Amino acid sequence: MADVNLKFLGGAREVGRSAILLGIEEKQLLLDYGVSIEGEEPQFPLPVPPKRLDAVAVSHAHLDHSGAVPLLYVSRSIPFISTPLTATLSDLLIRDFMKLSKYYIPYEIVEVEKMLDNLVSLNYGEYFEVNDISIKMIDAGHIPGSSMIQIESPSLNILYTGDYSLHDTCLLRGANPNDISKADLIIMESTYAEYNHPPREEAEKAFINTVLEVVGNGGIAFVPVFAIGRAQEILCVLAKYDIDVPIYVDGMARAANDLIMENLDLLREPKLFQKAVEKSIKVRDWDHRKKILSGPGIVISPAGMLQGGPSEFYMEKIMENSRNAVIFVSYVIPETPARQVIETGIYASPTKRGPVKARIEWFDFSAHCGHDELVKTLSLAKKDAKVVLVHGEEESALKLAELSRKLGKETYVPKIGEELKIAL
Ligand SMILES: [Zn+2]
Ligand SMILES: [Zn+2]
Repeated sequence: MADVNLKFLGGAREVGRSAILLGIEEKQLLLDYGVSIEGEEPQFPLPVPPKRLDAVAVSHAHLDHSGAVPLLYVSRSIPFISTPLTATLSDLLIRDFMKLSKYYIPYEIVEVEKMLDNLVSLNYGEYFEVNDISIKMIDAGHIPGSSMIQIESPSLNILYTGDYSLHDTCLLRGANPNDISKADLIIMESTYAEYNHPPREEAEKAFINTVLEVVGNGGIAFVPVFAIGRAQEILCVLAKYDIDVPIYVDGMARAANDLIMENLDLLREPKLFQKAVEKSIKVRDWDHRKKILSGPGIVISPAGMLQGGPSEFYMEKIMENSRNAVIFVSYVIPETPARQVIETGIYASPTKRGPVKARIEWFDFSAHCGHDELVKTLSLAKKDAKVVLVHGEEESALKLAELSRKLGKETYVPKIGEELKIAL
């Protein structure tokens, strides 16, 4: 028997700024320290005095899990535990976030460098030990390098899922469910507790058909994407169906591709990704960017929500012609230009506003578990495992908690700032 103390510094009854402080056997471990960039101004998690911390472990590079980590290095150095690819991709995203943010960010490049200097790099299956507590990374199937984090001592086994997927995508294998059944406590995401994603093949075929129609008419199929994960998934889908039209990649997706090319062993089909990258054309500069708009072709560029990156430029241009299409391929965050385009057909940026004459489409290529996968996770868990639900809107998390309790599990849906003491 052991007591576990948890404090939720962010990402509780909300999606964004994931941050969980875990106390076991006198040790304090921080699981993720993210920043929410959904609204206008970035939202940081609640503060934690770094001198109380023994280490920070980061599940994956998305900013809602990694974006506040440099804050921990302003006054101290602690081990930064992640997979090697999560470290390099986090570095890429954090630097870009610092460059583009119009708001004050409470850390500087030197803290980002200090974070990397303290990297404890763990490949999947490898351990880091703090006294008799061991920390292990397990493939989460969400984005390249993403992991579930297992924390184990002689008396307990805790699994923090981070963002994860049990289903395969073109890019990645789904997470291995065997690891779930060993945990006494599962801290799991609940993003899509109320929703099942459509079958993968269906989404792929509908997407490919749309792209072919648009380029067949001489138009540009513009796909705004998140630079890490979705950009590579879309490239793989296009390679899988052998689409033979120019495919342009722009913005930070170019650097992300390069980093992922150095870690091909993490991918489901390394050859498919290699082929996809070799077939695609990196946009070189502004002249090139303007030239490719004469079409036809496919343009894959961040930012996914049409906020920042070259996507604003592309959207302003392609929206004027009905031969073109803007094709969204991920969850469309409320209060973003992308959401406004889908809901109203109007695009508004700091430099342009007006009706979108181009075709508007949306396809679901989620790399998160849907409802059935979340329920499967719960049913694979040990009979007396305890469950804590995070990374979901309040309603989603509460619905999943109901199901979890029906399965006989003691289940918690903490609020931000809440502390829990759980006996295992
Ligand atoms: Zn994520
Ligand atoms: Zn997330």
